[in-house]
Amino acid sequence: MWNIDKAYIDGAFVPVQGTEVVEIANPATEQRIGSATLANRDDAKRAIAAAQRAQPALAATGKAERIEMLERLRTAVLARTDAIRDATIEEYGGPLARAQWVSDYASQCFANAARTLEAFEFTRRVGDSTVTMAPVGVAGLIAPWNSVAGSVCSKLASAIAAGCASVIKPSELGPIQAQVVTEALHDAGLPAGAFNVLLGRGADVGDEIATHPGIAKLSFTGSTPTGKLIARAALDTMKRVSLALTGKSASIVLDDADFARALPLALNAAFMNNGQACVAGTRLLIPRARMPEAIERIAAVATALRVGDPRDPATAIGPLLNAAQFERIQRFIRRGKEQGATLVAGGEGRPDGLSRGWYVRPTVFADVRNDMDIAREEIFGPVLSVLGYEGEDEAVAIANDSPYGLQAYVFSSDAQRAGRVAERLEAGTVLVNRIAPDLLAPFGGVKQSGLGREFGVFGLEAFLEPKTVTTA
Ligand code: NAD
Repeated sequence: MWNIDKAYIDGAFVPVQGTEVVEIANPATEQRIGSATLANRDDAKRAIAAAQRAQPALAATGKAERIEMLERLRTAVLARTDAIRDATIEEYGGPLARAQWVSDYASQCFANAARTLEAFEFTRRVGDSTVTMAPVGVAGLIAPWNSVAGSVCSKLASAIAAGCASVIKPSELGPIQAQVVTEALHDAGLPAGAFNVLLGRGADVGDEIATHPGIAKLSFTGSTPTGKLIARAALDTMKRVSLALTGKSASIVLDDADFARALPLALNAAFMNNGQACVAGTRLLIPRARMPEAIERIAAVATALRVGDPRDPATAIGPLLNAAQFERIQRFIRRGKEQGATLVAGGEGRPDGLSRGWYVRPTVFADVRNDMDIAREEIFGPVLSVLGYEGEDEAVAIANDSPYGLQAYVFSSDAQRAGRVAERLEAGTVLVNRIAPDLLAPFGGVKQSGLGREFGVFGLEAFLEPKTVTTA
Protein backbone atom coordinates (compact mmCIF):
# COMPACT_ATOMS: atom_id res chain seq x y z
CA MET A 1 0.00 0.00 0.00
CA TRP A 2 1.39 3.38 -0.96
CA ASN A 3 1.24 6.22 1.53
CA ILE A 4 2.54 9.39 -0.09
CA ASP A 5 2.51 12.32 2.30
CA LYS A 6 5.68 14.26 1.57
CA ALA A 7 6.76 16.93 -0.82
CA TYR A 8 10.33 17.32 -2.08
CA ILE A 9 11.49 20.76 -1.00
CA ASP A 10 15.01 22.14 -0.61
CA GLY A 11 16.65 18.78 -1.29
CA ALA A 12 14.62 16.73 1.19
CA PHE A 13 11.33 14.88 1.47
CA VAL A 14 9.29 16.85 4.01
CA PRO A 15 5.75 16.31 5.37
CA VAL A 16 3.20 18.41 3.52
CA GLN A 17 1.14 21.01 5.36
CA GLY A 18 -1.88 20.27 3.18
CA THR A 19 -4.46 17.92 4.65
CA GLU A 20 -6.51 16.73 1.68
CA VAL A 21 -6.07 13.00 1.19
CA VAL A 22 -6.81 11.38 -2.18
CA GLU A 23 -7.22 7.65 -2.71
CA ILE A 24 -5.15 5.89 -5.36
CA ALA A 25 -6.64 2.93 -7.25
CA ASN A 26 -5.24 0.52 -9.81
CA PRO A 27 -7.30 1.19 -12.97
CA ALA A 28 -6.97 -2.45 -14.09
CA THR A 29 -8.62 -3.80 -10.93
CA GLU A 30 -10.33 -0.70 -9.48
CA GLN A 31 -8.73 -1.73 -6.18
CA ARG A 32 -7.28 0.79 -3.75
CA ILE A 33 -3.49 0.72 -3.78
CA GLY A 34 -2.77 3.65 -1.49
CA SER A 35 -3.38 7.29 -0.69
CA ALA A 36 -1.66 10.61 -1.12
CA THR A 37 -1.83 13.77 0.95
CA LEU A 38 -1.87 16.81 -1.29
CA ALA A 39 0.28 19.86 -0.70
CA ASN A 40 -1.34 23.26 -0.29
CA ARG A 41 -0.48 26.89 -1.08
CA ASP A 42 1.86 27.19 1.92
CA ASP A 43 3.82 24.17 0.72
CA ALA A 44 4.00 25.79 -2.72
CA LYS A 45 5.33 29.01 -1.18
CA ARG A 46 8.03 27.05 0.68
CA ALA A 47 9.01 25.27 -2.53
CA ILE A 48 9.16 28.55 -4.46
CA ALA A 49 11.32 30.12 -1.73
CA ALA A 50 13.72 27.16 -1.87
CA ALA A 51 14.00 27.49 -5.65
CA GLN A 52 14.59 31.24 -5.33
CA ARG A 53 17.47 30.59 -2.92
CA ALA A 54 19.01 28.04 -5.31
CA GLN A 55 18.59 30.20 -8.43
CA PRO A 56 21.66 32.52 -8.24
CA ALA A 57 24.16 29.66 -7.86
CA LEU A 58 22.45 27.64 -10.59
CA ALA A 59 22.44 30.61 -12.95
CA ALA A 60 26.17 31.05 -12.33
CA THR A 61 27.05 27.50 -13.39
CA GLY A 62 28.80 26.98 -16.71
CA LYS A 63 28.10 24.48 -19.44
CA ALA A 64 30.35 21.79 -17.99
CA GLU A 65 28.70 21.87 -14.57
CA ARG A 66 25.22 21.72 -16.08
CA ILE A 67 26.19 18.83 -18.34
CA GLU A 68 27.53 17.03 -15.29
CA MET A 69 24.24 17.62 -13.42
CA LEU A 70 22.29 16.33 -16.41
CA GLU A 71 24.49 13.27 -16.56
CA ARG A 72 23.87 12.59 -12.87
CA LEU A 73 20.12 12.98 -13.39
CA ARG A 74 20.24 10.61 -16.35
CA THR A 75 22.13 7.97 -14.38
CA ALA A 76 19.82 8.30 -11.38
CA VAL A 77 16.65 7.98 -13.47
CA LEU A 78 18.13 5.14 -15.51
CA ALA A 79 18.77 3.23 -12.29
CA ARG A 80 15.04 3.44 -11.50
CA THR A 81 13.77 2.63 -14.99
CA ASP A 82 12.01 -0.54 -13.83
CA ALA A 83 10.32 1.21 -10.92
CA ILE A 84 9.09 4.01 -13.19
CA ARG A 85 7.79 1.43 -15.68
CA ASP A 86 6.01 -0.53 -12.94
CA ALA A 87 4.42 2.61 -11.46
CA THR A 88 3.20 3.62 -14.92
CA ILE A 89 1.55 0.23 -15.30
CA GLU A 90 0.14 0.00 -11.77
CA GLU A 91 -1.22 3.51 -11.35
CA TYR A 92 -1.91 4.60 -14.93
CA GLY A 93 -2.66 1.33 -16.72
CA GLY A 94 0.00 1.91 -19.38
CA PRO A 95 0.58 -1.26 -21.41
CA LEU A 96 4.01 -2.79 -20.81
CA ALA A 97 5.65 -1.60 -24.04
CA ARG A 98 4.37 1.96 -23.62
CA ALA A 99 5.30 2.04 -19.92
CA GLN A 100 8.79 0.84 -20.85
CA TRP A 101 9.05 3.57 -23.50
CA VAL A 102 8.00 6.26 -21.01
CA SER A 103 10.55 5.12 -18.44
CA ASP A 104 13.35 4.94 -21.03
CA TYR A 105 12.33 8.35 -22.35
CA ALA A 106 12.54 9.82 -18.84
CA SER A 107 16.29 9.19 -18.64
CA GLN A 108 16.84 9.91 -22.34
CA CYS A 109 15.55 13.47 -21.81
CA PHE A 110 18.61 14.32 -19.74
CA ALA A 111 20.99 12.87 -22.34
CA ASN A 112 19.23 14.88 -25.07
CA ALA A 113 19.46 18.09 -23.04
CA ALA A 114 23.17 17.50 -22.36
CA ARG A 115 23.79 16.92 -26.07
CA THR A 116 21.90 20.09 -26.95
CA LEU A 117 23.76 22.10 -24.34
CA GLU A 118 27.14 20.87 -25.55
CA ALA A 119 26.55 22.47 -28.96
CA PHE A 120 24.75 25.61 -27.77
CA GLU A 121 26.38 29.05 -28.06
CA PHE A 122 25.28 31.21 -25.13
CA THR A 123 27.02 34.33 -26.43
CA ARG A 124 26.64 35.82 -29.91
CA ARG A 125 27.64 39.04 -31.65
CA VAL A 126 24.62 40.84 -33.12
CA GLY A 127 25.23 44.23 -34.77
CA ASP A 128 27.52 46.16 -32.43
CA SER A 129 26.38 44.22 -29.41
CA THR A 130 27.14 41.15 -27.41
CA VAL A 131 24.04 39.11 -26.79
CA THR A 132 24.06 36.60 -23.96
CA MET A 133 21.37 34.02 -23.47
CA ALA A 134 20.66 34.23 -19.74
CA PRO A 135 18.52 31.92 -17.60
CA VAL A 136 15.05 33.35 -17.28
CA GLY A 137 14.85 32.60 -13.53
CA VAL A 138 12.83 30.21 -11.38
CA ALA A 139 10.53 28.04 -13.48
CA GLY A 140 7.19 26.49 -12.58
CA LEU A 141 6.78 23.16 -14.34
CA ILE A 142 3.19 21.89 -14.40
CA ALA A 143 2.49 18.43 -15.82
CA PRO A 144 -0.57 16.33 -16.80
CA TRP A 145 -1.49 12.80 -15.70
CA ASN A 146 -1.06 11.01 -19.00
CA SER A 147 2.73 11.10 -19.12
CA VAL A 148 3.97 11.89 -15.63
CA ALA A 149 7.58 10.71 -15.78
CA GLY A 150 8.10 11.94 -19.33
CA SER A 151 6.68 15.43 -18.78
CA VAL A 152 8.50 15.97 -15.50
CA CYS A 153 11.89 14.81 -16.80
CA SER A 154 11.62 16.58 -20.15
CA LYS A 155 10.82 19.93 -18.55
CA LEU A 156 13.38 19.54 -15.77
CA ALA A 157 16.12 18.64 -18.26
CA SER A 158 15.60 21.86 -20.23
CA ALA A 159 15.38 23.96 -17.05
CA ILE A 160 18.65 22.60 -15.66
CA ALA A 161 20.38 23.00 -19.02
CA ALA A 162 19.35 26.66 -18.99
CA GLY A 163 20.42 27.22 -15.37
CA CYS A 164 16.90 27.60 -13.97
CA ALA A 165 15.78 26.26 -10.59
CA SER A 166 12.27 24.86 -10.64
CA VAL A 167 9.11 24.04 -8.77
CA ILE A 168 7.46 21.01 -10.31
CA LYS A 169 3.78 20.20 -9.95
CA PRO A 170 2.91 16.81 -11.41
CA SER A 171 -0.78 15.99 -11.73
CA GLU A 172 -2.58 15.04 -8.53
CA LEU A 173 -3.83 12.05 -10.55
CA GLY A 174 -0.35 10.49 -10.72
CA PRO A 175 1.02 10.42 -7.16
CA ILE A 176 2.87 7.10 -7.34
CA GLN A 177 4.57 7.90 -10.63
CA ALA A 178 5.53 11.33 -9.28
CA GLN A 179 6.92 9.81 -6.08
CA VAL A 180 9.03 7.20 -7.88
CA VAL A 181 10.44 9.75 -10.32
CA THR A 182 11.20 12.24 -7.54
CA GLU A 183 13.05 9.59 -5.53
CA ALA A 184 15.15 8.89 -8.61
CA LEU A 185 15.85 12.59 -9.20
CA HIS A 186 16.82 13.03 -5.56
CA ASP A 187 19.53 10.37 -6.00
CA ALA A 188 21.25 12.65 -8.50
CA GLY A 189 22.40 14.80 -5.57
CA LEU A 190 21.75 18.20 -7.13
CA PRO A 191 22.11 21.31 -4.96
CA ALA A 192 19.22 21.76 -2.50
CA GLY A 193 16.36 23.73 -4.04
CA ALA A 194 17.53 23.27 -7.64
CA PHE A 195 14.26 21.45 -8.20
CA ASN A 196 11.33 20.95 -5.87
CA VAL A 197 8.36 18.67 -6.42
CA LEU A 198 4.91 18.83 -4.91
CA LEU A 199 1.59 17.20 -5.64
CA GLY A 200 -1.41 19.40 -5.31
CA ARG A 201 -4.59 20.65 -6.85
CA GLY A 202 -4.40 23.02 -9.79
CA ALA A 203 -6.70 25.48 -8.08
CA ASP A 204 -4.32 26.10 -5.15
CA VAL A 205 -0.78 24.75 -5.69
CA GLY A 206 -1.02 25.26 -9.47
CA ASP A 207 -2.49 28.70 -9.07
CA GLU A 208 0.16 29.69 -6.53
CA ILE A 209 2.86 28.73 -9.00
CA ALA A 210 1.06 30.54 -11.82
CA THR A 211 0.70 33.79 -9.88
CA HIS A 212 3.66 33.98 -7.47
CA PRO A 213 6.04 36.85 -8.30
CA GLY A 214 9.03 34.60 -7.54
CA ILE A 215 8.29 32.45 -10.57
CA ALA A 216 9.63 33.90 -13.82
CA LYS A 217 8.65 31.19 -16.26
CA LEU A 218 5.83 28.66 -16.60
CA SER A 219 6.17 25.52 -18.64
CA PHE A 220 2.76 23.91 -18.69
CA THR A 221 1.48 20.75 -20.31
CA GLY A 222 -2.21 19.96 -20.06
CA SER A 223 -5.56 20.84 -21.54
CA THR A 224 -6.35 23.99 -23.51
CA PRO A 225 -8.92 25.33 -20.99
CA THR A 226 -6.39 25.06 -18.15
CA GLY A 227 -3.70 26.54 -20.36
CA LYS A 228 -5.87 29.62 -20.88
CA LEU A 229 -6.42 29.97 -17.13
CA ILE A 230 -2.68 29.73 -16.57
CA ALA A 231 -1.83 32.23 -19.28
CA ARG A 232 -4.26 34.73 -17.73
CA ALA A 233 -2.95 34.06 -14.21
CA ALA A 234 0.64 34.55 -15.37
CA LEU A 235 0.01 37.87 -17.01
CA ASP A 236 0.08 40.15 -13.95
CA THR A 237 3.65 39.20 -13.15
CA MET A 238 4.49 38.93 -16.87
CA LYS A 239 5.83 35.40 -16.61
CA ARG A 240 7.24 33.81 -19.71
CA VAL A 241 4.81 31.07 -20.66
CA SER A 242 5.13 27.86 -22.66
CA LEU A 243 1.92 25.92 -23.14
CA ALA A 244 1.70 22.38 -24.53
CA LEU A 245 -2.02 21.73 -24.91
CA THR A 246 -4.86 19.72 -26.38
CA GLY A 247 -4.66 18.02 -29.79
CA LYS A 248 -7.07 16.60 -32.35
CA SER A 249 -4.54 15.34 -34.83
CA ALA A 250 -5.33 14.35 -38.40
CA SER A 251 -3.73 11.39 -40.15
CA ILE A 252 -3.91 11.78 -43.91
CA VAL A 253 -3.56 8.59 -45.93
CA LEU A 254 -2.84 9.62 -49.52
CA ASP A 255 -4.34 7.61 -52.39
CA ASP A 256 -0.96 6.07 -53.30
CA ALA A 257 -0.32 4.73 -49.79
CA ASP A 258 0.36 1.07 -49.15
CA PHE A 259 -2.57 0.35 -46.82
CA ALA A 260 -0.96 -2.78 -45.40
CA ARG A 261 1.78 -0.56 -43.95
CA ALA A 262 0.01 2.74 -43.47
CA LEU A 263 -3.20 1.68 -41.74
CA PRO A 264 -1.65 -0.29 -38.85
CA LEU A 265 0.62 2.71 -38.22
CA ALA A 266 -2.34 5.10 -38.38
CA LEU A 267 -4.29 2.95 -35.92
CA ASN A 268 -1.30 2.86 -33.65
CA ALA A 269 -1.17 6.66 -33.81
CA ALA A 270 -4.84 6.79 -32.83
CA PHE A 271 -4.74 4.30 -29.98
CA MET A 272 -1.26 4.86 -28.53
CA ASN A 273 -1.08 5.24 -24.76
CA ASN A 274 -4.64 3.78 -24.53
CA GLY A 275 -5.78 6.72 -26.67
CA GLN A 276 -4.86 9.08 -23.84
CA ALA A 277 -2.24 10.94 -25.87
CA CYS A 278 -2.20 14.60 -26.88
CA VAL A 279 -0.67 13.54 -30.21
CA ALA A 280 -3.16 10.76 -30.91
CA GLY A 281 -4.09 10.76 -34.60
CA THR A 282 -7.83 10.54 -33.98
CA ARG A 283 -9.10 11.88 -37.31
CA LEU A 284 -8.15 9.47 -40.06
CA LEU A 285 -8.59 10.89 -43.58
CA ILE A 286 -9.04 8.31 -46.35
CA PRO A 287 -9.55 8.92 -50.11
CA ARG A 288 -13.20 8.14 -50.85
CA ALA A 289 -12.30 5.88 -53.79
CA ARG A 290 -10.43 3.55 -51.45
CA MET A 291 -12.79 3.84 -48.46
CA PRO A 292 -14.39 0.35 -48.54
CA GLU A 293 -10.98 -1.34 -48.65
CA ALA A 294 -9.72 0.93 -45.86
CA ILE A 295 -12.70 0.38 -43.56
CA GLU A 296 -12.44 -3.38 -43.95
CA ARG A 297 -8.78 -3.33 -42.93
CA ILE A 298 -9.23 -0.79 -40.14
CA ALA A 299 -12.13 -2.71 -38.58
CA ALA A 300 -10.12 -5.94 -38.74
CA VAL A 301 -7.05 -4.39 -37.10
CA ALA A 302 -9.08 -2.57 -34.41
CA THR A 303 -11.12 -5.66 -33.54
CA ALA A 304 -7.97 -7.75 -33.23
CA LEU A 305 -6.29 -5.37 -30.78
CA ARG A 306 -5.79 -7.07 -27.43
CA VAL A 307 -7.37 -5.10 -24.59
CA GLY A 308 -6.55 -6.25 -21.09
CA ASP A 309 -4.01 -6.58 -18.30
CA PRO A 310 -1.39 -3.87 -18.94
CA ARG A 311 1.32 -6.14 -17.48
CA ASP A 312 0.82 -8.67 -20.30
CA PRO A 313 3.26 -8.02 -23.18
CA ALA A 314 0.53 -9.03 -25.65
CA THR A 315 -1.76 -6.22 -24.49
CA ALA A 316 -2.13 -3.30 -26.89
CA ILE A 317 -4.61 -1.27 -24.87
CA GLY A 318 -4.88 -1.19 -21.09
CA PRO A 319 -7.53 0.37 -18.90
CA LEU A 320 -8.27 4.09 -18.94
CA LEU A 321 -7.20 6.11 -15.93
CA ASN A 322 -10.40 6.13 -13.88
CA ALA A 323 -14.20 6.08 -13.88
CA ALA A 324 -14.39 9.67 -15.13
CA GLN A 325 -12.31 8.79 -18.19
CA PHE A 326 -14.40 5.65 -18.78
CA GLU A 327 -17.65 7.63 -18.64
CA ARG A 328 -16.25 10.36 -20.88
CA ILE A 329 -15.45 7.82 -23.60
CA GLN A 330 -18.92 6.23 -23.30
CA ARG A 331 -20.50 9.67 -23.75
CA PHE A 332 -18.49 10.35 -26.90
CA ILE A 333 -19.36 6.95 -28.37
CA ARG A 334 -23.06 7.65 -27.74
CA ARG A 335 -22.75 11.11 -29.28
CA GLY A 336 -21.02 9.72 -32.36
CA LYS A 337 -23.95 7.37 -32.95
CA GLU A 338 -26.54 10.08 -32.24
CA GLN A 339 -24.89 12.46 -34.70
CA GLY A 340 -25.04 9.88 -37.48
CA ALA A 341 -21.58 8.30 -37.67
CA THR A 342 -21.41 4.58 -38.47
CA LEU A 343 -19.87 2.31 -35.87
CA VAL A 344 -17.52 -0.16 -37.57
CA ALA A 345 -15.63 -1.49 -34.53
CA GLY A 346 -16.05 -1.39 -30.76
CA GLY A 347 -18.87 0.58 -29.17
CA GLU A 348 -20.19 1.23 -25.70
CA GLY A 349 -19.39 -0.90 -22.67
CA ARG A 350 -16.45 -3.03 -21.61
CA PRO A 351 -14.79 -5.55 -23.94
CA ASP A 352 -16.06 -9.12 -23.58
CA GLY A 353 -14.60 -10.95 -20.62
CA LEU A 354 -13.50 -7.83 -18.73
CA SER A 355 -16.01 -7.04 -16.01
CA ARG A 356 -13.68 -4.99 -13.77
CA GLY A 357 -11.21 -2.25 -14.59
CA TRP A 358 -11.72 0.88 -16.69
CA TYR A 359 -11.42 -0.97 -19.97
CA VAL A 360 -13.15 0.36 -23.07
CA ARG A 361 -13.58 -1.15 -26.52
CA PRO A 362 -11.28 0.28 -29.22
CA THR A 363 -13.86 2.05 -31.30
CA VAL A 364 -13.89 3.17 -34.92
CA PHE A 365 -16.51 5.36 -36.56
CA ALA A 366 -16.89 5.68 -40.34
CA ASP A 367 -18.95 8.28 -42.24
CA VAL A 368 -17.75 10.97 -39.87
CA ARG A 369 -18.22 14.60 -40.88
CA ASN A 370 -15.74 17.11 -39.59
CA ASP A 371 -18.48 19.09 -37.81
CA MET A 372 -19.44 16.18 -35.55
CA ASP A 373 -18.30 16.32 -31.92
CA ILE A 374 -16.21 13.16 -32.35
CA ALA A 375 -14.21 14.97 -35.06
CA ARG A 376 -13.89 18.29 -33.26
CA GLU A 377 -13.27 17.46 -29.61
CA GLU A 378 -10.34 15.68 -28.03
CA ILE A 379 -11.88 12.44 -26.75
CA PHE A 380 -8.74 11.17 -24.96
CA GLY A 381 -9.51 7.49 -25.33
CA PRO A 382 -9.31 4.83 -28.08
CA VAL A 383 -11.98 6.24 -30.39
CA LEU A 384 -11.09 6.85 -34.02
CA SER A 385 -13.08 8.93 -36.53
CA VAL A 386 -12.65 8.05 -40.20
CA LEU A 387 -13.44 10.80 -42.71
CA GLY A 388 -13.49 10.61 -46.50
CA TYR A 389 -11.99 13.13 -48.95
CA GLU A 390 -11.93 13.63 -52.72
CA GLY A 391 -8.52 15.11 -53.41
CA GLU A 392 -5.43 16.48 -51.68
CA ASP A 393 -6.94 19.96 -51.34
CA GLU A 394 -9.96 18.66 -49.51
CA ALA A 395 -7.80 16.47 -47.27
CA VAL A 396 -5.71 19.49 -46.28
CA ALA A 397 -8.82 21.63 -45.75
CA ILE A 398 -10.42 19.03 -43.45
CA ALA A 399 -7.20 18.50 -41.51
CA ASN A 400 -6.80 22.25 -40.98
CA ASP A 401 -10.44 22.78 -40.06
CA SER A 402 -9.82 22.41 -36.32
CA PRO A 403 -9.12 24.81 -33.47
CA TYR A 404 -6.11 22.61 -32.68
CA GLY A 405 -2.83 21.99 -34.44
CA LEU A 406 -0.45 19.86 -32.40
CA GLN A 407 0.64 17.02 -34.64
CA ALA A 408 -0.38 15.54 -37.97
CA TYR A 409 0.56 12.40 -39.88
CA VAL A 410 0.86 11.81 -43.63
CA PHE A 411 1.16 8.37 -45.20
CA SER A 412 2.17 7.97 -48.84
CA SER A 413 4.40 5.86 -51.07
CA ASP A 414 5.88 9.09 -52.38
CA ALA A 415 7.81 10.88 -49.64
CA GLN A 416 8.18 14.07 -51.68
CA ARG A 417 4.47 14.31 -52.31
CA ALA A 418 3.80 13.65 -48.61
CA GLY A 419 6.30 16.40 -47.79
CA ARG A 420 4.38 18.88 -49.96
CA VAL A 421 1.15 17.99 -48.13
CA ALA A 422 2.97 18.29 -44.79
CA GLU A 423 3.96 21.87 -45.65
CA ARG A 424 0.30 22.83 -46.03
CA LEU A 425 -0.82 21.40 -42.70
CA GLU A 426 -1.41 23.65 -39.71
CA ALA A 427 0.40 21.62 -37.07
CA GLY A 428 3.49 22.06 -34.93
CA THR A 429 4.82 18.70 -36.12
CA VAL A 430 4.02 16.52 -39.11
CA LEU A 431 5.26 12.93 -39.11
CA VAL A 432 5.56 11.34 -42.54
CA ASN A 433 5.30 7.54 -42.79
CA ARG A 434 6.27 7.19 -39.13
CA ILE A 435 4.70 7.74 -35.75
CA ALA A 436 7.81 7.85 -33.56
CA PRO A 437 8.70 11.41 -32.52
CA ASP A 438 12.05 13.10 -33.12
CA LEU A 439 13.03 14.03 -29.58
CA LEU A 440 15.60 16.65 -30.60
CA ALA A 441 13.27 18.55 -32.94
CA PRO A 442 10.94 21.25 -31.62
CA PHE A 443 7.62 19.96 -30.28
CA GLY A 444 4.54 22.07 -29.62
CA GLY A 445 1.30 23.25 -31.09
CA VAL A 446 -0.06 25.97 -33.33
CA LYS A 447 -3.49 27.56 -32.82
CA GLN A 448 -5.15 26.39 -29.59
CA SER A 449 -2.73 23.48 -29.15
CA GLY A 450 -0.23 25.73 -27.46
CA LEU A 451 2.41 28.36 -27.37
CA GLY A 452 6.15 27.81 -27.63
CA ARG A 453 8.18 24.67 -28.17
CA GLU A 454 9.82 21.96 -26.11
CA PHE A 455 12.74 19.58 -26.83
CA GLY A 456 16.21 20.22 -28.13
CA VAL A 457 17.53 23.68 -28.76
CA PHE A 458 14.07 25.27 -28.93
CA GLY A 459 13.17 23.72 -25.58
CA LEU A 460 16.37 25.09 -24.09
CA GLU A 461 15.79 28.58 -25.47
CA ALA A 462 12.33 28.60 -23.87
CA PHE A 463 14.13 28.89 -20.51
CA LEU A 464 16.58 31.58 -21.68
CA GLU A 465 16.28 35.24 -22.45
CA PRO A 466 18.59 37.33 -24.66
CA LYS A 467 20.45 40.07 -22.85
CA THR A 468 22.10 42.72 -24.98
CA VAL A 469 25.21 44.63 -23.97
CA THR A 470 26.18 47.40 -26.37
CA THR A 471 29.43 49.22 -25.67
CA ALA A 472 30.47 52.61 -27.08
P1 NAD B 1 -5.33 19.50 -17.05
O1 NAD B 1 -5.30 20.73 -17.84
O2 NAD B 1 -6.57 19.13 -16.34
O3 NAD B 1 -4.20 19.51 -15.92
C1 NAD B 1 -2.82 19.65 -16.23
C2 NAD B 1 -2.10 20.15 -14.99
O4 NAD B 1 -2.55 21.46 -14.67
C3 NAD B 1 -2.34 19.30 -13.72
O5 NAD B 1 -1.14 19.20 -12.99
C4 NAD B 1 -3.37 20.14 -12.98
O6 NAD B 1 -3.36 19.92 -11.59
C5 NAD B 1 -2.90 21.55 -13.31
N1 NAD B 1 -3.90 22.61 -13.14
C6 NAD B 1 -5.24 22.50 -13.25
N2 NAD B 1 -5.82 23.70 -13.03
C7 NAD B 1 -4.82 24.59 -12.80
C8 NAD B 1 -4.78 25.98 -12.51
N3 NAD B 1 -5.89 26.71 -12.43
N4 NAD B 1 -3.57 26.57 -12.36
C9 NAD B 1 -2.44 25.85 -12.45
N5 NAD B 1 -2.41 24.51 -12.70
C10 NAD B 1 -3.59 23.90 -12.88
O7 NAD B 1 -4.89 18.34 -18.04
P2 NAD B 1 -4.86 16.78 -17.76
O8 NAD B 1 -6.26 16.27 -17.77
O9 NAD B 1 -3.97 16.47 -16.61
O10 NAD B 1 -4.10 16.25 -19.07
C11 NAD B 1 -4.73 15.92 -20.25
C12 NAD B 1 -4.63 17.07 -21.24
O11 NAD B 1 -3.27 17.41 -21.44
C13 NAD B 1 -5.15 16.70 -22.62
O12 NAD B 1 -5.89 17.78 -23.15
C14 NAD B 1 -3.89 16.49 -23.43
O13 NAD B 1 -4.03 16.68 -24.82
C15 NAD B 1 -2.97 17.48 -22.82
N6 NAD B 1 -1.58 17.10 -23.06
C16 NAD B 1 -0.86 17.85 -23.95
C17 NAD B 1 0.45 17.49 -24.23
C18 NAD B 1 1.26 18.29 -25.20
O14 NAD B 1 2.46 18.11 -25.23
N7 NAD B 1 0.67 19.17 -25.99
C19 NAD B 1 1.03 16.38 -23.61
C20 NAD B 1 0.26 15.65 -22.72
C21 NAD B 1 -1.05 16.02 -22.45
